[in-house]
Amino acid sequence: MAQQEDVFKKIVSHAKEYGFVFQSSEIYDGLAAVYDYGQNGVEMKNNIKRYWWDAMTLLHENIVGIDSAIFMHPTIWKASGHVDAFNDPLIDNRDSKKRYRADVLIEEDLAKIDDKIEKEVAKAKKRFGESFDEAMFRHTNPRVLDYTKQREELHERFAKAMNDNNLDELRQIIIDREIVCPVSGTKNWTEVRQFNLMFRTEMGSTADGAMTVYLRPETAQGIFVNYLNVQKTGRMRIPFGIAQIGKAFRNEIVARQFIFRMREFEQMEMQFFVRPGQELEWFEYWKQWRLRWHKALGLGDSKYRYHDHDKLAHYANAATDIEFEMPFGFKEVEGIHSRTNFDLSQHEKYSGKNIKYFDPELNESYTPYVIETSIGVDRMFLSVLCSSYEEQKLEGGDTRVVLHLPAALSPVKCAVMPLVKKDGLPEKAQEIVNDLKFDFATRYDEKDSIGKRYRRQDAIGTPFCITVDHQTLEDSTVTLRERDSMEQTRVNIADLHKLIHDKVSLTTLLRKLA
Ligand code: ATP
Repeated sequence: MAQQEDVFKKIVSHAKEYGFVFQSSEIYDGLAAVYDYGQNGVEMKNNIKRYWWDAMTLLHENIVGIDSAIFMHPTIWKASGHVDAFNDPLIDNRDSKKRYRADVLIEEDLAKIDDKIEKEVAKAKKRFGESFDEAMFRHTNPRVLDYTKQREELHERFAKAMNDNNLDELRQIIIDREIVCPVSGTKNWTEVRQFNLMFRTEMGSTADGAMTVYLRPETAQGIFVNYLNVQKTGRMRIPFGIAQIGKAFRNEIVARQFIFRMREFEQMEMQFFVRPGQELEWFEYWKQWRLRWHKALGLGDSKYRYHDHDKLAHYANAATDIEFEMPFGFKEVEGIHSRTNFDLSQHEKYSGKNIKYFDPELNESYTPYVIETSIGVDRMFLSVLCSSYEEQKLEGGDTRVVLHLPAALSPVKCAVMPLVKKDGLPEKAQEIVNDLKFDFATRYDEKDSIGKRYRRQDAIGTPFCITVDHQTLEDSTVTLRERDSMEQTRVNIADLHKLIHDKVSLTTLLRKLA
């Protein structure tokens, strides 16, 4: 684990050193849980967004996009439940003065029991070798059975406390499980309190009487309140979806783990409107489809798992998370929720407007049910970064740091380098850049030895380096070096475009989903 934390620290400093992510307001000592994306970070982030956007809107004829404002009428947040119920239970440790989310402390405790079970299984597997019957072991081994029972009991108690909003019980669980503060190591806990996560500000001059407005904590509500505008003007028929990418803001209690939990972040959300009664089928469809989207990136299928929700929000009738294996464990990257007709009904009630959909096939009006897929751009970014980072030992004792980014997400697709800074090689290289730059993010680099230049590109995940040498001037060929294998092949300049395109284009990636 300590080793994993080490790797994570290295990834964070790598992200800074190579212009991916900077701490916000750094020269003023930073602003907690707010980050800026640098020159490479913004390109990669844009590529992630484009991959999502195109997968939604190009591959689904019945999905269109919108871009709604961050500010919305404050009653929207009353209707959605955010004013009254968008709370996290917080608890303080009196000795370290550190603040925690009570539910997260308990979830971590549950994960510890899971770990113990897995350790027992792994130990037995080693001991019994080939003949090991894992299912049998899990069902009969007394120690595993004991842990499993502990887990189930804790889990049930926790789920009930969360569902009942029973803050005293949450505290009692922390006490009974003897959970200690990771910083002070003590059990000196305060009461559990609720804390609303929405940021507020004021709109309008005070002379007119200012109105309290909120910075949206999710983009979804902008879709709900526009769904009928889009349906009517776009002549959409159910089932159809609306996609949106945009900033969201949450005054998170505990902001840790770099860009995993930020106070200002970006979401990619899609609300899919369906006939009542068909929502669970569509939920299943989106659950599968979203995982395919993730897996198509090739980061490793075993890094994903579903986590079905124990505590269903009062409006949901099914919910699951797609979790990704970060260096600090499996964590939620995306949520898929069957939200029933809760949001639309609430807006109908609070606005007093009829926002029902008229279904021409059934010849009746109803409030559609909604499946939501909601993914954080920044968490996605982090998962891509973490799983791509490698410190590689090379033959001859050398090492290199390389980002094995999915080529379509790489900030730079190819770098063109003259072997030496003379004899017309720079001019030739520049000519190639001028040709490729219309289709690919292309860099020109002539500084330092060629080896150093390759390393610089490896460190930002550039899939291809193109080297121009004296032979190029004679026969119009260059060396094409591939990032992961470091293999170098001699190719014709005329073939470069196709070779690069096949590997780096978003189309290639999207086709995997078709
Ligand atoms: P968590 O339990 O981690 O707080 P959540 O269940 O509240 O997340 P949702 O409300 O379902 O998250 O939001 C959908 C997605 O938005 C999440 O899967 C995550 O990728 C992203 N997200 C939510 N909160 C943050 C945050 N503070 N920073 C970065 N991304 C976030």
